Amino acid sequence: MRFCVLGSGSKGNATYVEAGGVAILIDAGFSGVEIERRLASLGLAVEKLGAILVSHEHGDHIRGVQALSRRYNLPVLVNRATRVAAGPLLAKIDVWQEIAAGQDCEFRGLHIHPFSVSHDGADTMGFVVSHGGCSLGYCTDTGITSRLMHHRLSGCHGLILECNHDLEMLKNGGYPPQLQQRIRSKDGHLTNTDAARFLVELIHDGLEHVVLAHISETNNTPELALTTVQEHLRLHASASGEPCRFTVSLAHQERVGELIKLIGS
Ligand SMILES: [Zn+2]
Ligand SMILES: [Zn+2]
Repeated sequence: MRFCVLGSGSKGNATYVEAGGVAILIDAGFSGVEIERRLASLGLAVEKLGAILVSHEHGDHIRGVQALSRRYNLPVLVNRATRVAAGPLLAKIDVWQEIAAGQDCEFRGLHIHPFSVSHDGADTMGFVVSHGGCSLGYCTDTGITSRLMHHRLSGCHGLILECNHDLEMLKNGGYPPQLQQRIRSKDGHLTNTDAARFLVELIHDGLEHVVLAHISETNNTPELALTTVQEHLRLHASASGEPCRFTVSLAHQERVGELIKLIGS
């Protein structure tokens, strides 16, 4: 399995996943042209995509879905509430497949496990995509973590995990109180510290790579997200006597991430 976060943040999110000769996008929150450009920069052709999997209806996740779907006849895998809530942004899609949280499905040999997260979308989902003993967990846009999310994401070889904001930067930044409240609520976004604690709970021997994603440009910095997570991992390693053997990297808003290969078990 290979994956790449093509870009992540409040201005757009898209992730490329490929396994067993099948490639999909998880979310397409940039324009279709921009996603094509980002794929091309990796030497990947949009024609090779098989489908677009949609987490929720916010524009930073679906901006390019309809254009790509119509241009390349790509099926869109989305739940009913998200499709309705997206209104005109997804209304003109010709091919789509209804999926639902808690119901595993398969797309050309890729196993997809959608699960509910806690966010202010109509029915926001995270995903685990698995193929041939290898699995990737995708979990952004959630205000809190849950036992269900833990259950779903444990055992993944790769993780894309939201590290949205630093609580102090949010409190002391320029966001109006109402917007701060929305971000901090259980239906908002995950803090660096919450993400770091959650990641520590998800550590297992088979974990290979973690990408920190959806980093706020206003209430966080990539360096702060990374150092917060690394500090929690360091404390865990010294307490448990087990060094962390996986790689942690950052997803960026403006540029394409690295193409990461997972070996699996
Ligand atoms: Zn959202
Ligand atoms: Zn988002």
